[in-house]
Amino acid sequence: MSGIHHVTAIAGKAQRNFDFYTRTLGLRFVKRTVNFDDPGTYHFYYGDEAGQPGTILTFFPWEHAAPGRGGVGQTHQTAFRVPVSSLGWWTHRLTEKGVAYEPLEKRFGESVLAFTDPDGMSLSLVGVPGAETEAGWSQGGVPAEHAIRGFHGVTLLLDSAAKTGAILTDVLGYKEAAREGSIIRYKATAALGGYVDIYEAKGFMTGRQGRGSVHHIAFRAADDAEQAAMAKKLIEKHGMHPTEQLDRNYFRSIYFREPGGVLFEIATDQPGFAVDEPVETLGQQLKLPKFLEPHRADIEKVLPSLESETV
Ligand code: ZN
Repeated sequence: MSGIHHVTAIAGKAQRNFDFYTRTLGLRFVKRTVNFDDPGTYHFYYGDEAGQPGTILTFFPWEHAAPGRGGVGQTHQTAFRVPVSSLGWWTHRLTEKGVAYEPLEKRFGESVLAFTDPDGMSLSLVGVPGAETEAGWSQGGVPAEHAIRGFHGVTLLLDSAAKTGAILTDVLGYKEAAREGSIIRYKATAALGGYVDIYEAKGFMTGRQGRGSVHHIAFRAADDAEQAAMAKKLIEKHGMHPTEQLDRNYFRSIYFREPGGVLFEIATDQPGFAVDEPVETLGQQLKLPKFLEPHRADIEKVLPSLESETV
């Protein structure tokens, strides 16, 4: 199964990020942990009920992060899937919550409702035929019939698509599916997180990462063996230098910066988010990996407080 595993972005205030994704967009808070490389910072995971690959949007909320700037070498937009018939409901929802949105537009024949989160991250809801038959999380204040069904895909803004496209098709399980203007669409086998669109913008200004920017995009590998085979191909055929495998507790990952400048990750589907707490109570407790557990008291002292009662 190929497709996006998760998308990780940079946020400002933790509470504001939590409120927007759980209370405005109605995603489930799947995991409350810390950035394993910077344990004084939260790492929040939002997704569907069980946090399936293809539904997970994660954030590092850095209270004082400088705002990012969109541009070449950055993820331009992150898109969620909703039923086609729900787009009208969402325009009311966003208005009621004070979120400005763009007029509905058509991309590759699909209706796209674009808006930004409180840190300026570019998001959209795409009406996908058939999405109404997929289960939606309904405990976040959004009725199940209108709930976000996971990712539709991401749009990357790159100087040139060729080398990145070669990695998507040769290593990550995507196929070139369509072209529209300067955008090339690549499609994977998974319905969730199945699209990567590359917007070729030669000569555009380079972006700068900060609050509201995507930090990296993770693609799926079924298991360690598939991930190792993908790493081998990246090294031998594409001149990439992926990292050693890192244990992220909920998945195991390698990272590399793709030729267009975006940080890519390949994450295993296993073991998933129920590895350290039951699905029924995901996200309620601060979870730490074993190596940080001895420092729990110090970590809890420096993390911002979070009012996380679900509505
Ligand atoms: Zn990641």
